[in-house]
Amino acid sequence: MDVRLTDQQALLRQSVREFAEHEIRPHVRDWDARQHFPRELLPSLGALGLMGIQVAESRGGAGLSAVEYCLCIEELARVDPSVALMVAAHNGLGTAHLAMFGTDAQCGRWLADLAQGRRLAAWALTEAGSGSDAGAMRTTATRESDGGWRLDGAKQFITHGHSADVLVVVAVTDATKGTRGMSAFVIEQGTPGLQPGRKEDKLGMRASETSEVRFDGCRVPGSHLLGREGLGFVNALQVLDAGRIGIAALAVGLAQGAYEAARAYALSRTQFGRPIARFQAIRATLVDDAVRIQTARLLTWRAAALKDAGHRTSLESSMAKLHASEAAVQVAEHGVQIHGGYGFVKDYPAEKFFRDVKLTTIGEGTSEIQRLVIARQLLAS
Ligand SMILES: Cc1cc2nc3c(=O)[nH]c(=O)nc-3n(C[C@H](O)[C@H](O)[C@H](O)COP(=O)(O)OP(=O)(O)OC[C@H]3O[C@@H](n4cnc5c(N)ncnc54)[C@H](O)[C@@H]3O)c2cc1C
Repeated sequence: MDVRLTDQQALLRQSVREFAEHEIRPHVRDWDARQHFPRELLPSLGALGLMGIQVAESRGGAGLSAVEYCLCIEELARVDPSVALMVAAHNGLGTAHLAMFGTDAQCGRWLADLAQGRRLAAWALTEAGSGSDAGAMRTTATRESDGGWRLDGAKQFITHGHSADVLVVVAVTDATKGTRGMSAFVIEQGTPGLQPGRKEDKLGMRASETSEVRFDGCRVPGSHLLGREGLGFVNALQVLDAGRIGIAALAVGLAQGAYEAARAYALSRTQFGRPIARFQAIRATLVDDAVRIQTARLLTWRAAALKDAGHRTSLESSMAKLHASEAAVQVAEHGVQIHGGYGFVKDYPAEKFFRDVKLTTIGEGTSEIQRLVIARQLLAS
């Protein structure tokens, strides 16, 4: 794979970088401290094409490739991983599920608004009792006599659970059929019976909103069934194949931000009469981290390029997500170490990267689950 960027890709990266530097960086600490979800960014993210990055232009999106999607997420995460998570969850989960499996009528109704940042998406699979084992979900959708559906249950840890205008929700429609008895639905905020639950107070990614969502006799019309009945879980796994490339890109960008901060600090901090970047131990750490980031980026772009070429990427997405997130955890931890005591206080960005990074080994499938997915492919007999 050619890893050189085209002129347009270089321009895209530059414009997202400038946006992140000017519109996001000045607020990062404040949003984190207050756990403020910066919904006010939506119009400008939409204007830049960042709310419908891979949605076709004919459907109101930017029509960019998966590789270009990675560039965008990386640049946002380099400055604020929470904003990158907002963009990745909106694009890669809720909006992607609709774009991949929605009918023309459903896409016409919701997709352009989502892709242009007029509305925000959420995607609700996880429940309190079913995380890694998402197929054990309990939320039900029961068909009503008028052809509509009634949802009952609760989802846990939903990004934009309070603020989303449109939620894609997976629920059990036929308990006798296991994971082939689950279906996806589009639910609009404000639908009676849909109740945003408790907002989480988080270790990191604090400017990304995470909450419970409850369904108490929540009725949706039959036209809100997304994809074929019974294929909601199967489709969700396909969404995750692509979504995981986004989390890998987020991890790469986060690691890049943490590395750049550590490098700059090492060059400026003087101990024993010289910059600490002159000490071999610090140099080796920074060198190894630069290599880690580059290998993670290449794995991520490889998965994205295969997706762009029309391949199924379960294996490559999981490899990229596993490697990039684990590498990013190491890089962020080294960032704190290189800052010494200053890595432990909020005046420097190292501690925030260290808190934010842990989500990348958990969300959209933990590292252990990525290994299961990879093993299933490598060791299938
Ligand atoms: C900030 C945040 C945002 C999120 N956003 C969303 C969202 O928008 N939509 C959504 O649907 N979900 C979302 N999630 C949920 C996320 O996907 C789950 O937290 C994740 O899949 C893990 O599930 P769990 O938390 O229930 O952990 P568990 O599944 O209970 O896992 C606990 C531990 O056991 C390990 N484990 C479990 N099964 C196995 C196994 N078979 N072999 C080895 N180890 C195993 C896990 O790896 C982990 O270490 C979000 C979570 C967070 C924290």
